[in-house]
Amino acid sequence: MKSQIDRVLSRLRGTREYDILYSMTGIYETITTQQGVWMSKCTLSCPTGCGDCCDHFEPDLMDGEALYLAAWLIENQGETAEKLISGTFTSLHPESEAGCIFFDADSPWHCTVYGGRCLICRLFGYSGDYGKDGSRRWKPCRFYPAGLLESNHPPLMHRQYTEKELYDLFAAVPPAMPDCIEQALSLTPDTAGKTVQLRTAIPAAIRKLLWIMQINDTPEPESA
Ligand code: SF4
Ligand code: SF4
Repeated sequence: MKSQIDRVLSRLRGTREYDILYSMTGIYETITTQQGVWMSKCTLSCPTGCGDCCDHFEPDLMDGEALYLAAWLIENQGETAEKLISGTFTSLHPESEAGCIFFDADSPWHCTVYGGRCLICRLFGYSGDYGKDGSRRWKPCRFYPAGLLESNHPPLMHRQYTEKELYDLFAAVPPAMPDCIEQALSLTPDTAGKTVQLRTAIPAAIRKLLWIMQINDTPEPESA
């Protein structure tokens, strides 16, 4: 399947970063597939224009998701990538220190890097986790208006739903967030789960990828 970072990937062949990005692409595609199944059964969707999960929130990134967003920016928003590494990028968030730098309050879609967005951004609202007994569970996003939940078919409430209830109501469960995080963490065991704030992680990851692509592009000197 064609990914949104194919051109960057093709310039990274043979490197560790290629392997990480290739695997992150697979993790993101799996999430999309699992959410597609879930959303075909639980048709509850976010209220138009809601972006409360991104407002006053800036993700902390694992290496793999920082590299993916950096690769996506290089391939899809080169000008933004340049601004980020030259220090001329201005946060789109109205309170520049209080929220994600890619959050545009004036756009109804809000996220300006949607195709490259981070793991938590893909999972929030559309994933579950495990209870103490190891079974799956899910809770509707706390920002859904109660009226929207009540008018859903079937009606829902702001509470935790057990695995049995989910299968009874929807014959499906959403992707499990802990599994997705574990898969992403396993790609870079050397950093031991260390995370870095998005606004710091992304410029560093862009610089790293550009440098590796440049080295990888350089032909081997011909032997005499
Ligand atoms: S996940 Fe929740 S906060 Fe985010 S857009 Fe949907 S309803 Fe709003
Ligand atoms: S990357 Fe996009 S979805 Fe994620 S926090 Fe920033 S604006 Fe929100």
